[in-house]
Amino acid sequence: MPRVPVMASASTSQGFSEPKGWAWDGGKRREPVLDTDFHPPHVVRHVGWRTCLKCAKPFFSVDVLAVRICDGCKGASTANLG
Ligand SMILES: [Zn+2]
Repeated sequence: MPRVPVMASASTSQGFSEPKGWAWDGGKRREPVLDTDFHPPHVVRHVGWRTCLKCAKPFFSVDVLAVRICDGCKGASTANLG
């Protein structure tokens, strides 16, 4: 069973309630990531499937609003930034 890749970033998973990945659903489902340091918890972002803006392949986005291209295309574009 393939693992869903997790982006390495400044924020840790500690204090966050992050939903587990699920199978491709056509890009409909969205699940909130909650910051449980707040009461009630804050929704910090949403995860879910979407299609890559560049290659149109489905991928699991850790932030459906901010991450709109797949890892392959992202790697290609950031490589140009040096
Ligand atoms: Zn792509």
